[in-house]
Amino acid sequence: MTELVSNRIEASATKLGLPHLAKTLHELARRADTAAMGNLDFLDLILQEELAVKDERRYRAGLRLSKLPHHKTLDDDDFAYQPDLDPRKVRDLSTLVFVQAKANVALLGPPGVGKTHIAVALAVAACRAGFTVYFTTLDDLVRQLKAADAIGWLTRKLRTYLRPHVLVIDGVGYQPLERPEANLVFQVISKRYEKGSTLLTSNKGFGEWGQVFGDEVLATAILDRLLHHCGVVPINGPSYRLKNRLTAIENVA
Ligand code: ADP
Ligand code: MG
Repeated sequence: MTELVSNRIEASATKLGLPHLAKTLHELARRADTAAMGNLDFLDLILQEELAVKDERRYRAGLRLSKLPHHKTLDDDDFAYQPDLDPRKVRDLSTLVFVQAKANVALLGPPGVGKTHIAVALAVAACRAGFTVYFTTLDDLVRQLKAADAIGWLTRKLRTYLRPHVLVIDGVGYQPLERPEANLVFQVISKRYEKGSTLLTSNKGFGEWGQVFGDEVLATAILDRLLHHCGVVPINGPSYRLKNRLTAIENVA
């Protein structure tokens, strides 16, 4: 390749928004030579490489914007620790059919059983697959919406929770809500209904949601939208947080 041609390719690639090609042209050309690639294979290699780099960048940016508290995956999950939890159920969810169907997932169980872990892992998988993701705790969602409402910005702030393909609302039930707060949650759930997926974690069974939301009618209205298309994953087992401590105590005893 003459210098003139390679300079021109690099300039064109940059103008076309193909920075990876501009940077790696010579290396790609060497690989094509070594493998005695045909023209079409070489072109395919260039486009695939550029796509992979763009996809990785989009994924990293998506994770940054998602506010996920960590990026654990299902591979980090020791399913054997929760014999009551059917790993197939979680693996099925990880195919993300529910995201395409704009359906919801509720992970229910006592503290430490891995509800947040699984919700985050599914959200990471969704982000990897190109969906937009946003993570919030229920408390923070209510706090943000109340603050926005107080200065007349409720509609604008609601968009944060309505826009993403996947919204994770973590920790439903840790704090009981006042009626106006529960009403803000209802707005999010009802506006997302059949428009986007909501992943919820709760330490309270649905029967207790009346107390959580301070109003049976409002709780029923929320559950009605939420559960119409919803995978429910109950996890009833020991706390993983206590796992090592209990082993340590057993060893001493
Ligand atoms: P919950 O949301 O149910 O209170 P978390 O998802 O926060 O529980 O889990 C508590 C901690 O234990 C986290 O660090 C999580 O990654 C870990 N953990 C929970 N369950 C498992 C599991 N089955 N395998 C591996 N790590 C787990
Ligand atoms: Mg949690």
